[in-house]
Amino acid sequence: MAAADTSTGIRTVRHWIDGKPSASESSRSGIIWNPATGEEQAHVDFASVEDVDRAVASAARAFPEWRATPLSRRAEILFKLRELVDAHRRDIAALITTEHGKTLPDAMGEVARGLENIEFACGIPNLVKGGFSEQASRGVDVYQIRQPLGVVAGITPFNFPAMVPMWMFATAIACGNAFILKPSEKDPSASLFLAELLKRAGVPDGVFNVIQGDRVAVNRLLEHPEVKAVSFVGSTGVARHIYENATRHGKRVQALGGAKNHMLVLPDADIATAGDAAVSAACGSAGERCMAISALIAVGNIGDPLVDAIAQRMARLKIGPGMEESAEMGPLITREHRDRVASYVENAAAEGATVILDGRQDPISRGNGFFLGPSLLDHVKPGMRCYDDEIFGPILSVIRADTYDEALRIINENPYGNGVAIFTRDGGAARQFQFDAEVGMIGINVPIPVPVSYYSFGGWKASLFGDLHIYGPEGVQFYTRAKVVTSRWPDPGTSKVDLGFPQSR
Ligand code: NAD
Repeated sequence: MAAADTSTGIRTVRHWIDGKPSASESSRSGIIWNPATGEEQAHVDFASVEDVDRAVASAARAFPEWRATPLSRRAEILFKLRELVDAHRRDIAALITTEHGKTLPDAMGEVARGLENIEFACGIPNLVKGGFSEQASRGVDVYQIRQPLGVVAGITPFNFPAMVPMWMFATAIACGNAFILKPSEKDPSASLFLAELLKRAGVPDGVFNVIQGDRVAVNRLLEHPEVKAVSFVGSTGVARHIYENATRHGKRVQALGGAKNHMLVLPDADIATAGDAAVSAACGSAGERCMAISALIAVGNIGDPLVDAIAQRMARLKIGPGMEESAEMGPLITREHRDRVASYVENAAAEGATVILDGRQDPISRGNGFFLGPSLLDHVKPGMRCYDDEIFGPILSVIRADTYDEALRIINENPYGNGVAIFTRDGGAARQFQFDAEVGMIGINVPIPVPVSYYSFGGWKASLFGDLHIYGPEGVQFYTRAKVVTSRWPDPGTSKVDLGFPQSR
């Protein structure tokens, strides 16, 4: 897969341009760590401006023929890709686990949710159907067609190195665009593996390219005149930068940012169910999910028994290398990130929160891998750093509220609006919450409400910059532009000069 650098014997992950691996023209590179051992396991090329330009040129060359390729042929290739990804689920998952650290079953889940997007895109002939109005005026028909944009780019985060690229490229390519992926430099191998599968499925060279690297590559994509649209998923600060710069250069942009997802637990909720859900959603993938629950608001007297239930469950979690079958939670992505996450526990105590469980005390947190045990903080309040910041680690903050209204105000005053979950047995209360919450994705007794692929994914407020959500029907809208045709086949005998504005009645 990735070519080996013979001088050091260490694997180097290259770009993928024009249907093959391509070494960088820059001498810059990054380290890919094994988070479970703390060791360096590979290097990744960092693209120069010239590398990006080569990829864009390849995509621009491939676009005209790809856009002219019949829908049925594009669908056939996507079906083939679906089969290949399905057959290689475990290989992709193993690459994810080795570089990201999440457990193998969790990585398998990531691949499955990404695959859904390829399955959705297999229906492309139906998805780009336009509308047709016969006899909009006498002898005049009007119809709308949707056409691809051209070369489009996707910039993706470390936490879903296969699923988030699939969110983007499946629809983009199905719609007839040529795609350039800039994956996270922290775990880039899955993207190259996917590139090989795309080629084997029959995607023509140049239609899918991968550019490895950092902000140098990203910033070139944002300003390159040939790049017509940019999809981004990552942290809010970078999402804002992407949105502002790419729109300044006239591009269509969807930039999904960070999150602070709440779980609201009403007094009538089942404590065991809510406890299981809170721990699963806070500690799955070591909290490194944009839809992870990081703040739980307990309303009324459910607080004490719920905190007990969560603490018992968290203390029992098995932490270890993601490839080990017994592990329920793996390490964090880098040592720096692990230390930053741990600092929130320290601060929370200083700011007046109660530390019920301190993950730093777990012996595994002191080994060479980037592990950190789960932490549970109680009596957290807005204004404390552990509440205000997106932590992106296995820390759950519990906030106490007396009423539903107080809890709702906290949720709606939060600058983020990605996901939120309510736990209750009261259907009316859940329905009211769905009406009231200023958040893009709502779970009712579902802690991680990532929409299925035939809906679209996206938060509100600081969790998304742009107008369209990602994948699903809004993804098709994002990667195409509408053209409306007004047509008449006049009888030459009735033709005359008419300077009036066209009328339809
Ligand atoms: P990140 O913002 O650091 O990086 C995302 C991408 O942007 C990477 O490809 C990276 O190379 C690039 N990048 C980083 N800094 C840049 C800069 N200054 N200029 C240009 N490009 C830059 O995010 P991450 O740490 O990889 O991922 C975690 C973040 O992503 C969290 O905030 C999480 O909430 C968010 N996320 C959001 C969603 C969502 O759907 N809203 C999904 C997954 C992750």
